[in-house]
Amino acid sequence: MSWEDKVRKVVPYTPGEQPDRKNMIKLNTNECPYTPAPQVERALKEMGGEQLRLYPDPSCAVLVDALADYYGLKSSEVFVGVGSDDVLAMIFMTFFNGKEPVLFPDITYSFYDVWAELLKIPYEQIPLDDDFHMVKEDYLGGKDGKGRRNGGIIFPNPNAPTGVLVDLSFIEDIVRANPDVIVVADEAYIDFGGESALPLIHKYDNLLVVQTFSKSRAMAGMRIGYAMGNEKLIKYLNDVKFSFNSYTMNRPALAAGVEAVRADDYFKEIVKKIVTTRERVKAELKKLGFEFQDSMSNFIFATHPKLDMTKLFEELRKEDIYVRHFNSDRIRNYLRITIGTDEEMDILLEFLKDYIK
Ligand code: PMP
Repeated sequence: MSWEDKVRKVVPYTPGEQPDRKNMIKLNTNECPYTPAPQVERALKEMGGEQLRLYPDPSCAVLVDALADYYGLKSSEVFVGVGSDDVLAMIFMTFFNGKEPVLFPDITYSFYDVWAELLKIPYEQIPLDDDFHMVKEDYLGGKDGKGRRNGGIIFPNPNAPTGVLVDLSFIEDIVRANPDVIVVADEAYIDFGGESALPLIHKYDNLLVVQTFSKSRAMAGMRIGYAMGNEKLIKYLNDVKFSFNSYTMNRPALAAGVEAVRADDYFKEIVKKIVTTRERVKAELKKLGFEFQDSMSNFIFATHPKLDMTKLFEELRKEDIYVRHFNSDRIRNYLRITIGTDEEMDILLEFLKDYIK
């Protein structure tokens, strides 16, 4: 016996690379191509060393209150964390504690199975159909012979990396059919054209809606995410958080986060710009023969009948254009391309035109 027998051995999540190269075009991790609101920068500049001497508020009240105010919720219905990754990890730990498998799509955010493995949670990956759509019946619980018995359900909406959106009635049917488990709508990309499931949290006590500041609020580097749901769910989440690490969010993140929530005009402006660019890029990619499901997120998940996408990925990389390639069976011949600025997308499109010629 050695100490290694007692190690919790896991295969970690692989984050998209963060190369540090001048003039690179970085379209690989769904970051926002624009800077955060000017108020956010001001708040950071104004934060002196004196503030850093002290611990932050463990309840993160200023940020929780700002979000509650923005969405018309009670503060007791909002939970914040260090990016939605932290929030989602807390959710797995808190609510996916049964014996039945937690369900999520086979092609989805590749952190879900990593958390399940880490926490020894049984899970089942439900295949998307050939067009990368979720099949609702698979998620309708097990009681009436349809769907599967499960210990919880989680999926991103729009899904990642496919960009495919489901509508509110799809989510409501799943939530209603599974009253004995928690259903999580991971809305990391919802601001780019989807309808949030947030209104449903007052109708169903088993729904959690998770969002992030990393994409539409241009603050991936700050690490802020949040969950919204029935106050009982939020209380259980806080109980686990305070049993794990009470000072999760640092003072700069709390101050900057509040300003980002208040800068609503700026937020709407950058989201609109990204959506406009996305629609233009969709049309251009189609002209070049690329194929993809309609994306309602800030990325396009594309393939091309005549191209080897692994090779294209490498060729783009040589040009310092970074996109994301996933080395897994059903999606090996796809690239996920984040929507950057118009200038960045033009450089990408020019390269592709030449490459395909
Ligand atoms: N959910 C989905 C579907 C994502 O794609 C991401 C981004 N990697 C996250 C959650 C986590 O984002 P963050 O921790 O930056 O909020």
